[in-house]
Amino acid sequence: MSRIAFIGLGNMGLPMAMNLAKAGHSLTVYDTVPAAMEKAAGEGMKTAASAAAAVDAANIIITMLPNGSIVLDVLAEIVPAAKDGAVIIDSSTIDIASARKAHDLVSEAGLEMLDAPVSGGVGGAVAGTLTFMTGGEREAFDRVKPVLEVMGGKIVHCGKGGSGQAAKICNNMLLGASMIATCEAFSLAEKLGLQAEAAFDVISTSTGSCWSVNSYCPVPGVGPKSPADNDYKPGFAIELMHKDLNLAQMAASEVGQATPMGAHALELYGRFLEEGGRGRDFSAMIEYLKSAVR
Ligand code: NAD
Repeated sequence: MSRIAFIGLGNMGLPMAMNLAKAGHSLTVYDTVPAAMEKAAGEGMKTAASAAAAVDAANIIITMLPNGSIVLDVLAEIVPAAKDGAVIIDSSTIDIASARKAHDLVSEAGLEMLDAPVSGGVGGAVAGTLTFMTGGEREAFDRVKPVLEVMGGKIVHCGKGGSGQAAKICNNMLLGASMIATCEAFSLAEKLGLQAEAAFDVISTSTGSCWSVNSYCPVPGVGPKSPADNDYKPGFAIELMHKDLNLAQMAASEVGQATPMGAHALELYGRFLEEGGRGRDFSAMIEYLKSAVR
């Protein structure tokens, strides 16, 4: 069993840490918000007074934080306090430039680092079925894989440092665009007089089938249960999709790759956020498109 420090006990981090503790690992945790620390203490985890104090005895350090600049700030504090041989795993979704800086900072101190963002949302974090996309040295990956398996159902080594974040933003850029296309198709079907159930039966078994249609249909009462059946409560909030589409555009402009669909998806989600979309699931885009004037 490993000694694990876990930093960032939000919607994702707390259930991930809880699964590690349940599996018998020894957890020391830290978050800047006292309420998050109280919840972790209530689950029997040891809380530390600072990020540095959380990591000093750990073999594995996991961060689950809002963005790249916070991750770099936290790393600047914990790297000098970490013990020799510790592996640092950042599971936050952050920009690739910050992920690469994080790898440099950690390896300059003689430690191992993996970027390991996840997909699967809060439900996957609670159930321990997240997908981990990891970038970094294969040897470090092999060493920590059993720990990632406690929190995840699928653990993929994507390549060198930053590759996990690259896989994450490419997937989510595709998801953002495919959800908008799905919302357009079902809205048009309705205006053309087609029953949503009939449209679903055809599209979900035809060449338009995709995860946004088959597993997360944005029309209430159609297909497997999804946020559409729960008044578009997230699920995957529009704010998070907007964040990921923004990261994809930053990466695309750095490497000079044209991503017109990704750029347009970012613009549409941005407009929806300004016009009532805050706090809703990203599949609520169907309501925005229905009310949009052509
Ligand atoms: P969250 O805002 O609920 O949690 C972030 C936590 O980090 C908070 O508890 C906050 O207090 C803490 N924090 C902030 N600054 C800190 C610091 N300096 N030191 C210690 N703790 C600090 O966010 P979340 O939903 O748990 O997401 C975490 C990361 O996972 C994000 O990068 C997000 O993009 C990614 N992600 C989220 C989901 C999702 O469905 N929520 C899915 C996949 C990936």
